[in-house]
Amino acid sequence: THTLRLILGDQLNPQHPWFAQVDAGVVYVLMEIRQETDYVLHHAQKIIAIFAAMRALARQLAQAGHRVHYLQINDPANQHSLPANLGALIERYQPRQFDYQDPDEYRLDQHLKDFFASRPYAARVNSSQVDSKHFYTQRHEAAELFAQRKQWLMEHFYRHMRLRHRVLIDGMDKPAGGQWNFDAENRKPWKGAPPEPPDLRPRHDHSTLWASIEAAGVQSFGEPSADNLRWPLNRTEAVQQLEHFICHALPHFGDYQDAMSRKAWRLFHSLLSFALNVKMLNPREVVERVEAEWRAGRVELAAAEGFVRQIIGWREYVRGIYWAQMPGYDQHNGFEHNTPLPKWFWTGNTRMNCLAASITGSLQHAHAHHIQRLMVIGNFALLAGLDPQALHRWYLGVYIDAFEWVELPNTLGMSQFADGGLLATKPYVSSAAYIDRMSDYCKGCAYDKKQRLGEAACPFNALYWDFYQRNADPLKKNPRIGMAYQHIARMDADTLAALQARASQIRGQLDAL
Ligand code: FAD
Ligand code: SF4
Repeated sequence: THTLRLILGDQLNPQHPWFAQVDAGVVYVLMEIRQETDYVLHHAQKIIAIFAAMRALARQLAQAGHRVHYLQINDPANQHSLPANLGALIERYQPRQFDYQDPDEYRLDQHLKDFFASRPYAARVNSSQVDSKHFYTQRHEAAELFAQRKQWLMEHFYRHMRLRHRVLIDGMDKPAGGQWNFDAENRKPWKGAPPEPPDLRPRHDHSTLWASIEAAGVQSFGEPSADNLRWPLNRTEAVQQLEHFICHALPHFGDYQDAMSRKAWRLFHSLLSFALNVKMLNPREVVERVEAEWRAGRVELAAAEGFVRQIIGWREYVRGIYWAQMPGYDQHNGFEHNTPLPKWFWTGNTRMNCLAASITGSLQHAHAHHIQRLMVIGNFALLAGLDPQALHRWYLGVYIDAFEWVELPNTLGMSQFADGGLLATKPYVSSAAYIDRMSDYCKGCAYDKKQRLGEAACPFNALYWDFYQRNADPLKKNPRIGMAYQHIARMDADTLAALQARASQIRGQLDAL
C-alpha cells in the first residue's frame, strides 16, 4: 500500500476523480466515530442516514474493485477519534502518501492539518489535501469578491455567480427575462391547491444499524424512523429525487417558496439538501437541469430563477462567509442574548401552533423548510433573546442537512443577526401578522394573533415591539427598518410600557408558553 485516502461522512461523491481508476496500492478509509456523532447532540435520522450512506458508498467502491478499509461503529479496533484511528491505520498500512479532500468544516480542517504536522507523522507520510470537486467557488472566493466592503450583500455575489458561470444568461451579459431577481413574485401563501406532489422518496430499513448505534451508547434525539428512513442514501436515489422534484414540484417552487401549512410539510421544496451536502449530488447538475427545464419551456423563469438562486447564490455565499469568518464566527453574540432554549425545543410541546408544528415536524422528519427555520423558530429565538450559541448547536443537531459551514452562517448570521449584520441587511423578525399571512398556523392556535397584550395575546406581538424598543440603538439607524420605528414613535408611553412588561413576562416563562 503506497497511499491511504480518507473519505469523510459528507464526502460521498462516487464521481470524484479519485475513483476513476482502480489502483491496488490505494486504500480508501471510512470511519463511523464517536467524535463525529457526539460533537453536538444529533437527530437520530441524521446519524443513521450518514452511516448508511457511507456504507453504501463503501460497498459501491469495493464492488468496483477499490480497496476499502471501513471502521464500523461497533468494530473493536475503532478508537472513535480521527487522529487515533489514522495513527493505527498508518501503522498498519505504512503508506508513503495520505490524501484527503477539502474538509468543509473548519474543525476537521484544523484537525487534519494538525495531525499531519505532528510528530511522528510529519516525517513519515506526505499528506495532500485535494479539491472535493463539489462547489462552484473556492473557499476564499467570496472574501476576495467582497474585499473591503462593510456589508456582504448576497445579491451582489449572486449576480457575479450568474455571469461567471453563465447561468440563466442571455447574450453576453443579460439576465434571462431582463431581470436578475423575481423574488417579489415568490411570496404566495398556499391554500391547498395545487396539491402537494406525492412523497416518492425511497424507504429504507436500517433497524440493525440503528441498534448498533444505540448499543455503542450514542445519544440522540428526534424520531429515528430506522425501519422507514426516507432519505436518499446513494447517488441513484438522489438523482431520482432530483427528477421527481423537477417534474412535480419545481413549477410551483417559486410561488410557494415562503408558504407554510400544517397540511403539507414538504410543499414544493426539493428536500435535496442532504443529498447535496453529503455530495451525492453536484450543485452544477442540479442547476443545469433546472435551467434546461426552463429553456425547454416546461417551467416559468421565476420558478427556475428562484431555485437557482438558492444553490449558486445562498449556498455558495454562506460557504464563502464561513471560510472568511472562521475561526471566531461561532462566538458572535451581537445582542448579548443568553436565555437557554425552552424545553419544548426538544419536544415540540408548546401551545404556540406555529412553533409546535415547526418543531414537531423537525423532530419527526429531521427537516423543516426555510421559512419555518427562519421566520418561525429563528424569529422566535431572536425575539425571545435565546442564546445564539445554544441555538446554533440545536440547528446543527436537528437537521439532516446540517453541517457547520452552511448551518452556522444561516443560524448565527441570517437568522439571529448575531454577527451585527454582516450577512443580513436587517433582522428577520416579525409579529404574528407575517406568520398568519404565510401559513394556516394561527387558525386554531391557543393564542390570539390580533392581540398584543394579555395572557391570550400571541407572544410574537409583544416580543416584536419590545425587540425594536430594546435595540433602538443600533437598529434605528438602519434605513431598512424605518417603518417599525415610525410606528413606535406613534405609540403612547403607556402602550410601550405595557408591551415591555408583557414581553418580559413572556421571557420569564418561556417553558410554559
Ligand atoms: P429547497 O427549498 O428545495 O432549496 C433548494 C436548495 O437550495 C437546498 O437544498 C439548499 O441546498 C439550497 N439552499 C436554500 N436556501 C439556502 C440557504 N439559506 N443557505 C444555503 N443553502 C440554501 N441549509 C442546509 O443545507 N443546512 C443547514 O444546516 C441549514 N441550516 C439553516 C438554518 C437556518 C436558521 C436557516 C434559516 C436556514 C438553514 N438552511 C440550511 C437553509 C435552508 O433552510 C435549507 O437548505 C432548506 O430548507 C433545505 O431544504 P430543501 O432541500 O427542501 O430546500
Ligand atoms: Fe404562532 Fe402567534 Fe399565530 Fe399562534 S397566533 S400560530 S403563536 S403566530
